[in-house]
Order: sequence, then C-alpha cells, then structure tokens
Amino acid sequence: MTRNIEWALDADVVVVGAGGAGLVSAINAHDAGSSVLVLEKMPHVGGITILAGGGIKAARDHGKAVSYLTETQGGRVSDRLIDAFAQGLVELPDYLRGLAQVNGAEIGERADTHEGIYPFPGADTLYSLTVTDISGFAGYDWTYTGKNLAGQRFFKVLLDNVLARNIPVHTGAPVRSLITADGEVIGVWAEIEGRKVAVRANRAVVLASGGFEFNEKLKREYFEALPVYAMGNPGNTGDGILMAQKVGAALWHMWHFHGSYGFKFDDYDTAFRIAPGGARNPNRPISWIILDTFGKRFMNELHPATQDTAARPLGLYDADVPGYTRIPAYLVFDEEGRKLGRIANPLTSHPEHRYVWSEDNSAEVARGWIKRYDTVEELAAAQGWEPAVLKATLARWDEIVRSGSDDDHRRPAGTLFPIGTPPFYVVPVWPLLTNTQGGPEHDEHQRVVDPYGEPIPRLFAAGELGSFFAHLYLLGGNLSEIVISGRIAGTQAAGLPRWTHGQDRARVA
Ligand SMILES: Cc1cc2nc3c(=O)[nH]c(=O)nc-3n(C[C@H](O)[C@H](O)[C@H](O)COP(=O)(O)OP(=O)(O)OC[C@H]3O[C@@H](n4cnc5c(N)ncnc54)[C@H](O)[C@@H]3O)c2cc1C
Repeated sequence: MTRNIEWALDADVVVVGAGGAGLVSAINAHDAGSSVLVLEKMPHVGGITILAGGGIKAARDHGKAVSYLTETQGGRVSDRLIDAFAQGLVELPDYLRGLAQVNGAEIGERADTHEGIYPFPGADTLYSLTVTDISGFAGYDWTYTGKNLAGQRFFKVLLDNVLARNIPVHTGAPVRSLITADGEVIGVWAEIEGRKVAVRANRAVVLASGGFEFNEKLKREYFEALPVYAMGNPGNTGDGILMAQKVGAALWHMWHFHGSYGFKFDDYDTAFRIAPGGARNPNRPISWIILDTFGKRFMNELHPATQDTAARPLGLYDADVPGYTRIPAYLVFDEEGRKLGRIANPLTSHPEHRYVWSEDNSAEVARGWIKRYDTVEELAAAQGWEPAVLKATLARWDEIVRSGSDDDHRRPAGTLFPIGTPPFYVVPVWPLLTNTQGGPEHDEHQRVVDPYGEPIPRLFAAGELGSFFAHLYLLGGNLSEIVISGRIAGTQAAGLPRWTHGQDRARVA
C-alpha cells in the first residue's frame, strides 16, 4: 500500500551501499538519465572495496574467457551469465580507462598478472589491471592498507566519478527493508540521522550492500567450518541478503567464500590476514608449515591463490575424533623463519583497528601472540603434541626441503624453507574469510530472481552480494564484478519505466 507512505526522499534509482559496486551502479544509472541516491550504512564510504589488493581481472578474448569461466564455475551458473561476465571482462579496460579520466589515474598491468589463474582452457586470455597512480593521492585517512594503496586508488576513481556527477551519497544511513507494492519494489525504509524514513525508488532499487562477512548467524548456517573469522568492513552483515529473502529472492553460492587462514587474538578486536597477497609467488620462500591438533602437517600452505582457497583444508570435520582437528591449526617456524619477514598483513577501514605488524615478528612474540620455545620438546609439551609425532613431522619437512620436492602436499619448490634453528615459534591460525560470494540469485541482467527464476520486479543486485563466483574464484574477479555487475545493474535499473501504484497519493515529505 503506497497511499499511507510519506516519502522523505526520492530518486529514480536508489542504490544500497557505497562500496565499489554501489558506486558503479550509481554512475551508470546516472549516465543512463536517471536521478540516483546512494544510501550507505557506515560513517565512511568504501566498504571492503577500499581494502582490496587492487588486482582487477580483464580478458582479451571473449570465447576464451567463456571457456575458462565455464570450467571454473563448475556448472553452477547459467551459460547466459557466463557469456555476460566474459563480455564484461573484455570491455573492462576501456571502461575503466574512461572512468580514470576524472582524476588522471593511471591504469597499468600488474607484474603478477598471470598468478592465481588455474591451468584450464582459455586461461591465457586473462590478465590483471590495477590503478598504479593518482597524482597527490596518499590514501584515505580512515583506512590502513600498509604500503599497498591500489584498492584505495581504484575506489577513488569510482568516488571521484560519483562526486563529479553530484550524485547524493548519504552515509550513516542504513537501509532496513524494501518497500513493495503488488510485488514490485518501489522504495526502501532507511534510517537517516536517526529517523526512520521512506525513500522512494521511481524505477528500481539496486542492492549493493556487500557480503555477510560479519553476520555470525549466516556463517553458522552456511559454512561447514566453525568458526570462520572475518576482517574488513563490519558493516557487511548480509543486510541485502535478508531484505531480498523477505521479498522472495532465491539465494545462491552461500557456501562459497574467498578465504585463507589467518590470525585472531582474544585481546585484539580484528583478525589479521596471512602475509602472502592474493596469489602465491612460487619463487618466494615462506617460513612456516601448518600442523593439525596432533602436530601433523596436512596441507600445502601456499595454494595457487592462497588468499582464496587455503581456508578450505582447515574446514574438515573428523568424525573419528570427533571434532575439528584443524581449527585452529598451528603455524610453526624457527628463528631463521622469524627473520624472513612478517607473517601477517593487517588491513582495516577502522582507525581503532589499525595495527602495524613488526617486520621480523618480534613485537608479536613480545605480545605473546606468537609463542616461543627453545626446544622441539618444549614446543611439543606446550601444545600437547606427542614429541615423537612433532619430531617426525619436522624430520619429514627437512627431507622435503632438502629434496626440493613436496611429494606430500605439492607446495612449490621455491617456497620451501627449513625449520631447524631454535628457538621455535607457534601461533594458532583459523579459517579467515576475505569476502563472501553468496547472496540473492540474479540473472544476466542483474535482476534478482525468485526460486523459480522469475525476476522480482525492480530489484537488482550488484557486487559480491550474490556474486557470480560460484565454485572457483578468479583472482581479481570481485573488483571486475564491481564494474561488470554495476554497469549492467545501473543501466538496466535506469531503463525501466517509473512505477505508478497510488502515485497520485504518495507525496515527498
Ligand atoms: C583485504 C581484501 C583484499 C581484496 N583484494 C581484492 C583484489 O585485489 N581484487 C579483487 O577483485 N577483489 C579483492 N577483494 C574483494 C573485493 O574487494 C570485494 O569483493 C568487493 O570490493 C566487494 O565490493 P562491493 O561493492 O560488492 O561490497 P563493499 O565494498 O563491501 O560495499 C558494500 C557496502 O554496503 C554497505 N552496506 C551494508 N549493509 C547496508 C545497509 N543495510 N544499508 C546501506 N549500506 C549497507 C557496507 O557498509 C559497504 O560500504 C579483496 C577484499 C579484501 C577484504
């Protein structure tokens, strides 16, 4: 019923969330002739986009991209969607360079352009772009991403485009629910300056509210591993998923998250990412091995896309024990390894979570986060491991390092590093997700669909909220998806006729 609603604000297209996908949707809806309003829950814009490493995948050839995506999406998304995504990857470089004109940002190909790509047909067509420089830009002051500003630069390109178009963005304005009439989405209920207000969407609502990294209930429902910690933007609590569910959306890809193993300490609010970036460098030694609750090695510590799939082996529930024998797992290294480089890579968009990890890990040993033991026997005793088991694990590791071949778990030769110089160090590691991929299902037009595949009228999704990525992620693909899905959602939303339900009686307050 619209006649009782007092609309506090209105726009043709209302975008929920001011991360990357929300901004690209807003830019495209605006450029297609619509008035646009963006509502952001948090005090700052940026979502987790602002924390990204900054790799943005693109493709040279559409057909090859289709082949690769078909293989990696495991039959879990339609051919039409794969076709649209592949086309988006091909068009992405020109589109991004067009946006970059707003502030003279430089776009370049990344040095690690082919890392993290799996050897499937079509792989050679993929490469990674990044925003290499924006003159005078030294990062957003509420965000900490160490020396890597590439994700912040990508976000600045988007934000400057929004500002140049005078698109209003309300921060501290959480959207609470969708307003429908006769099954069509016609607006949202939001809180603006502490007041619950109705915001009218004349043409459509685009949900771009990110994932459910910080919704513990959803994580418990959909993930096998428990717990799975998160880092990033605490505003990503899956609100868009719940809102879409309430108006009849199907959900998909809820099990699939982009994650590795990382650190969480009781006396610090946020979790920390493990140090290697998105992809592994097969020629860079890494100091540690990872052991289970018995002191045995069980995994390749450096997956091809370590930040994507390395959480998966930790999730095993061993019914014979019974229990999770790899949550937490334990990262072990020695004195030489401690000096090899910092083991964590803290990132945050919240000033109070800012933490600078020491380069030689000594500060974290001093804090008691990393435990130090003079002998293997002391380490085993402290961990409750059989000394003989730990000794066998280390002896086997020594063999692997000497032979240069990890026949147990296929870790690349160039990453192997000996563990034999006391003292020894141990630190618990947990499944740690970077971002979720699940959410409302959408079609190739980014229309949210119900369980029967029927579009829910005037409702679109963009970004990692119901991501395209269903099975095996394409490193750099979530930033690509921001561009691809935002372009489609914004343009499609703007192309709809204005709704007419009770329009004569609705009024702007
Ligand atoms: C450390 C890190 C590194 C990464 N590196 C890369 C990389 O190099 N390449 C890559 O492709 N991907 C990377 N990713 C993943 C990628 O950054 C994200 O998947 C992508 O940015 C998600 O964009 P989004 O716009 O969908 O969500 P977000 O950027 O999270 O934006 C969602 C926004 O919606 C807001 N919101 C939530 N609920 C509401 C509500 N109820 N009302 C209003 N607003 C709401 C949130 O506060 C947030 O601002 C990385 C992620 C992290 C955390």
